[in-house]
Formats: sequence, C-alpha cells, structure tokens
Amino acid sequence: MNPLNPISVILRSLDFAATRHRSQFRKGEEKTPYINHPIQVANLLINEAGETDPVLLAAAILHDVVEDTVDSVEERDLLIGEIRSIFGDEILSLTMEVTDDKTLVKEERKRLQVEHAADKSVRAKKLKSADKIMNIRDLINCPPLGWTRNRVLDYLNWCEKVNEGVRGVNGKLDSLFEEVLKQARVMYRDER
Ligand code: ZN
Repeated sequence: MNPLNPISVILRSLDFAATRHRSQFRKGEEKTPYINHPIQVANLLINEAGETDPVLLAAAILHDVVEDTVDSVEERDLLIGEIRSIFGDEILSLTMEVTDDKTLVKEERKRLQVEHAADKSVRAKKLKSADKIMNIRDLINCPPLGWTRNRVLDYLNWCEKVNEGVRGVNGKLDSLFEEVLKQARVMYRDER
C-alpha cells in the first residue's frame, strides 16, 4: 500500500477498525457503536486541531484496535503482523505507542500513562490528547452507566495528569483540552 495516499490509507483503516470493533459499544447508555470513538478522535484531529498527517489520522482510527480487540498474546501478535503488512511500520509503531499493555493491572496501566506521557513522540502526544478530549466529551454528552461522581472526578484528574505530559505540541488541542476539562468539572460540580 502507498501510505502517502491519504484517502486510501484512511478508508483502509476505517474498514479495518470497524471490522475489529464490530461487536463493541461505548460505555454510555446510548450504546454508540465503538467505532464512533476512533472516528471522532481522527475527526477532532483534522477538523478542530488542523492536523492533516495521514499517518497520524490512520493511527487515530486504529488506536484502540490492539488494546481492545484481542484476548490473548497470540491473537495480539497476529493482529500486529496484520497491521504491519497492511499499513506499514510507521502507522503500526504509532498505534503501539498509544496502546496500553493489557497484561498489567488497570492501576499500573494508568500510572504508566502518566509516567511515559512526556517521552512520547510528537504524533503520539497529539493522538493521546485528542483521545482524552473525546473521552471527556463522552462523559459530558453520554455519561457512562454506573459511574459515581467520585469515579468521574478521579478520571478527570488522571486525564489532566496524562495531558500535562503530552501538551505543548498543538495549541488548539491544548485549549480544547482545558475547555472540556473545565466544562466536565463544572458539570460534575468539582469544587476547586
Ligand atoms: Zn481511545
């Protein structure tokens, strides 16, 4: 595949990710198909943050595929090989840069996201930031079932810590993040 043809790479990644996420839904009560989330992250990057790099946009669409659609190390390795052969090493490595190690417990994964944020590549920082903005928008627009106010506020604090490490590479992403964080804290009435 010629990775320099942006429309081709974007459509291929959409088809690939939609197939992988086909039986998954987002956490909110509206049961939005999971694929809407990676589409929204890519959409935010291009239409709100002005990013046009096809490698970044394709990885944005693929960003949760390895983390969320395999159940074993064997399946994971197979999927990684597939992504490499269809999309090439550059898109694969960016996708992997924003993929958590699911063999670790959740708390450890969250801690590592904070710890490693500042060491990520510029593209990975943009992707991480857009991902967090969309996750917080989801909390505002379709609150996840069963989340207590404290759980939401903890989540917002954690997003803020991760964002500390990834900010500074796109001014629009930085302002969008600040704006949405503020809005969510007001909505969930965090007294600070
Ligand atoms: Zn995501």
